[in-house]
Amino acid sequence: MRPATLLSAFLLALATPAAAAPPPPARGTVALTFDDLPELALVEDQDYADALTTALLAGLRRHHYPATGFVVGGKLEERVPARQSAILQQWLDAGMELGNHTFSHESPREIGAAAYIADIAHDDAVLRTLLAPRGLKPRWFRHPYLETGTTAAARRAIDTWLRRHGYRVAPVTIVPSDYEFAEPYDAALARHDDVHARALRRAWLSYLQRSIVWYRQAAHALFGRDIAHVLLLHATRLNADTVDDLAAILERNRLKVVPLSRAMRDPAYRTPDTYVGKDGLDWLSRWELTLKKPLPWDEFREPSARIQAEYARVDKDAETTPLTLEQSAPPAAEEEPAPAP
Ligand SMILES: [Zn+2]
Repeated sequence: MRPATLLSAFLLALATPAAAAPPPPARGTVALTFDDLPELALVEDQDYADALTTALLAGLRRHHYPATGFVVGGKLEERVPARQSAILQQWLDAGMELGNHTFSHESPREIGAAAYIADIAHDDAVLRTLLAPRGLKPRWFRHPYLETGTTAAARRAIDTWLRRHGYRVAPVTIVPSDYEFAEPYDAALARHDDVHARALRRAWLSYLQRSIVWYRQAAHALFGRDIAHVLLLHATRLNADTVDDLAAILERNRLKVVPLSRAMRDPAYRTPDTYVGKDGLDWLSRWELTLKKPLPWDEFREPSARIQAEYARVDKDAETTPLTLEQSAPPAAEEEPAPAP
């Protein structure tokens, strides 16, 4: 054996055990954003909305996580309006930032640019009233359905309005479709099916883990490095019940939570987004078009067909019959143990 061969054999022997264990993920950062405030709950019950808010905010504070919530002003007129407003105060009291998500959560594709801008302005008025007593102003805007305008003229009009009113669009780079798990979760809780609720929590967390890995890989494919990410979640009971699991997943992926404003300092966010069309695209998909570099779509997985079907079913059912806790609760007598003989 020549010395060089010996040396390579030695190096190979050294390298083999290390190769068996996957390398730890690179350290990175992520900003947490929660859409559809005051809450996104399928259950028509103010107590349910209040309780999920309290649990979600307590969880975020327990982990010292900053977050940005995006408000749909029209939802303040639903359920018990005074208590819906109180939910937003709770977010502010917890030190979270609030942004604009339009008043009615309509899509610019459906209503056109002029009506869409009016809807943003309506939400802006609500937010300014809410924030002014605290000396704050809204500065972030999140597009419902991530739709940014179907024509170049529409997109220009929307962007111009936002800029003139001091808004910056809040992009998203990790989009794990949490609502598809959250609505079946609400439905399972409403019918007191704890076994299924637990299964949905597990399914969600495993999909979240998979999503984080994929979107980080995808960003790497575009920029050749890890970028500061923005995670899109919703203000749901599911997220309230899994904050500690989220924290464990972020830790496992070595992602540190930072404020949105910090994440947005990453130069990646200066990459132009020139997409015009009807689709609601995340920002990696937009930059894929600008940079003309393909994302690893072969490895992308939607939530399972079972989750998608369950989501479609509960969402449709809720349109015809609002879901309430009482409605599906088993009679109390069934829960009681038989009296001792
Ligand atoms: Zn939304």
